[in-house]
Amino acid sequence: MLELNRYDTNELKEKDKKHLWHNITPYSEQDRPMIVTEAAGSWVTDSEGNRYLDAMSGLWCVNVGYGRQELADAAYKQLSTMPYFPLTQSHLPAIELAEKLNEWLEGEYVIFFSNSGSEANEVAFKIARQYQQQIGQHNRFKFISRYRAYHGSSLGALSATGQAQRKYKYEPLTSGFLHVAPPDSYRRPDGMSVEDFNLQCANEIERTIVWEGVESVAAVIMEPVITGGGIIVPEPSYLKRVEEICNQYGVLLIIDEVICGFGRSGRKFGHQNFSIQPDIVTMAKGLTSGYLPLSATAVRKEIYDTFKDNTEMYSHLRHVNTFGGNPASCALALANLQLLEREQLVARAEVLGQRLRSAFDDLLEHPLVGDIRHFGFLLGIELVADKTTKAPASVDVVKKIIGECKRAGLIIGKNGDTVAGYNNVLTFSPPLASTDDDMAFIISTFKQVMANQIASAD
Ligand code: PMP
Repeated sequence: MLELNRYDTNELKEKDKKHLWHNITPYSEQDRPMIVTEAAGSWVTDSEGNRYLDAMSGLWCVNVGYGRQELADAAYKQLSTMPYFPLTQSHLPAIELAEKLNEWLEGEYVIFFSNSGSEANEVAFKIARQYQQQIGQHNRFKFISRYRAYHGSSLGALSATGQAQRKYKYEPLTSGFLHVAPPDSYRRPDGMSVEDFNLQCANEIERTIVWEGVESVAAVIMEPVITGGGIIVPEPSYLKRVEEICNQYGVLLIIDEVICGFGRSGRKFGHQNFSIQPDIVTMAKGLTSGYLPLSATAVRKEIYDTFKDNTEMYSHLRHVNTFGGNPASCALALANLQLLEREQLVARAEVLGQRLRSAFDDLLEHPLVGDIRHFGFLLGIELVADKTTKAPASVDVVKKIIGECKRAGLIIGKNGDTVAGYNNVLTFSPPLASTDDDMAFIISTFKQVMANQIASAD
């Protein structure tokens, strides 16, 4: 651990500024990082001793909360006995974790381990394309995903992403990725029921498959609920209809559980809320609660078995990564899943999400609040400049609220699409192990900040 007494914060910030390039941070803000030195439960402490409740669980990942000694112990024990061996062969923690993941998935899946959510999706794309070839569908290479969804930063996963602001500097991206509209019920056409709108959005996938040429489409990829694009929650019938369309046209259904998995949705995996059976499930983040890098691509056994052909061309997936399924990461992930089970944090996520939603009910009267959406222990508040036209609130308003929350000791997030003008959804994704006091703090702090917006506008 960094010995803080050897440095003062200014010195640390100078060194940081000189040597570090921060994720998705504008150049002008590179020199203002919060240097986090300690973390416990739902709270983090910076190098100046300020404490913050992290209602975003880092980047939506610290599901069990910070400072769980048993996770550190599991990794330490594994590092001391067998720190590394590639999964071209096998090792105990990977076998045990794959077995446990199957139990959580409630189906028969084969697991391919990688290091990040982006990679898990890349692997899914490669498997989907190769699977279609294995079964003689040589032209099925296209993927369909939704606008506003995020699927990762590498060029394939970014191609599946439907947020222009993350892409336009890096185009042209990988070819063969198509997008359809998300079931954003808040912005549905006037006079249309939510149910009909969701059905229309699902049917747009069918129309795209048919218009593109059925035999050119390999897979559809979607999160159960769009998280990074502003907590867009579909009607239960939406995902059922998508599954039906995929089955009808021989298109694989890849479900990205990178955020929705591991209890965040109130079920073990987000898709379990909708009673669908995906062909491929990708996961990361909550798999280790962010303590170590690890991700996984779970593939239905029947799909895996199409690789049994003995010819050199088709006998194996030509994909290898050095660190995927690192033994310490797997051992830690297993301890993380056991902890989620023992403390019944999946069920708690549902209870806490409901509590947060109910506590925010009266915010629907607030002039800036257009919509509040929640799914398990994920919550999004869509800010608008005008409730009638639903014109999005400006980025400045959104940033001001986030800044005031931070000054009051509460970290919340923001998501949407800057280029499309929808960068106006405040997000909450606190650790599932948040205490009742933590909940009270989140609720009272946020409501006070929102009340201040009215006072300052008067
Ligand atoms: N899919 C989803 C739904 C995500 O939210 C993310 C990350 N926010 C990713 C994929 C990519 O994960 P990673 O950052 O670990 O590559």
